[in-house]
Amino acid sequence: MRRKLVEELKRKGITDARVLNAIGKVPRHQFIDDSAFERFAYVDQAFPIGCEQTISQPYTVAFQSELLNVKPGEKVLEIGTGSGYQTAILCELGAKVYSIERHRPLYLITKKRLADMRYRAHLVHGDGYKGLPVHAPFDKVIVTCGAPDVPQALIDQLVEGGTLVIPVGGDGRQFMYSLLRTATDVVKTEHGAFSFVPMVENKVRG
Ligand code: SAH
Repeated sequence: MRRKLVEELKRKGITDARVLNAIGKVPRHQFIDDSAFERFAYVDQAFPIGCEQTISQPYTVAFQSELLNVKPGEKVLEIGTGSGYQTAILCELGAKVYSIERHRPLYLITKKRLADMRYRAHLVHGDGYKGLPVHAPFDKVIVTCGAPDVPQALIDQLVEGGTLVIPVGGDGRQFMYSLLRTATDVVKTEHGAFSFVPMVENKVRG
């Protein structure tokens, strides 16, 4: 089923062999809690994971991962851990991953899940709007929830030459942006419309 999903993502335009290889490796069914729904794990769709959140669609995970262009050993910050699926893909790409989730139950479940699966990521319960200044700077930052605007903290915490991949827009529909931080500037490119659950500022849930 995973091989079929990889073929589907190729047909839909994903070309990065390392990303496709990571998708082919990570057992997505283990990121869906209710085993009755495991058969949906390799359908190219988002799926509910509790706390009114969703595991991102595989195509979206692949697309963002391709844009992020992670090199082994790079320090990556993810905002919106959710199920941890994107986190696991980043680990497979060889990144040193930090990930922030605002919902404590999701943070706790995912922390255990990733540890059980032997994925070593540094998970934090908190507000991703602020980034993670104690561990900055990061080579790459990926936001996996729809942001109303680009949080300045996330740009500030990038290395020079670093990239931020972030969907920006209102409820239900956002445009994917890739922002490259240069010595003097931030260079922004747009990559089409997507649909994410909202990025919520200042509302960390216990
Ligand atoms: N990468 C995840 C996507 C989950 S959906 C996956 O594939 O499973 C996005 C997640 O972002 C949700 O879990 C939501 O709770 C979280 N989120 C929204 N706003 C946030 C914020 N300000 N800080 C941290 N996490 C946030």
